[in-house]
Amino acid sequence: MFERVIGQAKAKRILSRAIKKGCLSHAYLFQGLTGVGKTTMAKELAMVLNCISKTGCGECNNCYRIKQGLYPDVLLLKPEGPSIKIDEIRALTNFMGKSSYEGSVKVGIVCKAEKMRDEAANCLLKTLEEPPDNSLLILTTENQYSVLPTIRSRTQRVDFQRLSTEEITGFLNNKGVDPKESLKLAEYSGGSLGKALSLQNSPAMQELFQKANQVLEELTRLKPPEVIALSSDLGKDRMQTLHFLELLGDALKARGIKQDFSMVFGKQYSITQIAAILNSLEELKLYIEGYGNAQLALEGLFIRICRLSEV
Ligand SMILES: [Zn+2]
Repeated sequence: MFERVIGQAKAKRILSRAIKKGCLSHAYLFQGLTGVGKTTMAKELAMVLNCISKTGCGECNNCYRIKQGLYPDVLLLKPEGPSIKIDEIRALTNFMGKSSYEGSVKVGIVCKAEKMRDEAANCLLKTLEEPPDNSLLILTTENQYSVLPTIRSRTQRVDFQRLSTEEITGFLNNKGVDPKESLKLAEYSGGSLGKALSLQNSPAMQELFQKANQVLEELTRLKPPEVIALSSDLGKDRMQTLHFLELLGDALKARGIKQDFSMVFGKQYSITQIAAILNSLEELKLYIEGYGNAQLALEGLFIRICRLSEV
């Protein structure tokens, strides 16, 4: 069961035990970083419950249709914009309230549940309070506290972990990615397979990934004009700057797990210095989120990092 979900042994154990004992909750809140398998797990769970052989085989007519988003008793709500609209939640609660087309378990999945404003969340509350028979609601979120307490208290939480480097590289290697590239992607993904895949697949992210890699590998070897050019390039777009800082932070933390700071930014740094840099990255993110000047802030950061290595 759940073989197609990478890692997440604990979540798999909790859910497969509940299925075997016949005591699945009527509503779950899957919590964990974006890209670690929450939605995949929700779809896999829908497959197990509706599979012709009750295994979630992935191949029978029902599993196939669930995978393709064509099964009439499974509804997946994935917000595109900044919020989940009340009409979307109304459609979901209507869907949940009707008896199933195929005499199976109705499954409603709401991704990024924190995007429900109060009105939408309150609309969903009725379904949570009086769950229809043979129905299952799965909400996913990065942070349970960003979901209303009334929703939280009516769902059972299942935590999803960051994936290990081995889990991510294993997956990428199987896809035919060069092992060296896999290792780098895993390092910069911060344990999110989704992020590793978007770094690999999207040209814009790939470019950012190359720049983060350039900074991490050789910042102190760059000449001042090159540092300024890099800062102005990376600082042009606020979202891009934030992504860059996150990538750099994740890559540094990954080195921390391996206790390998022998060659970051092109020099040798101590753990204390790296901790100070990580702090600066976090401060800078807040500053830029608060509409500070990204280009100047990045320049300042790069200069501070270079000076640290001279101490
Ligand atoms: Zn099946």
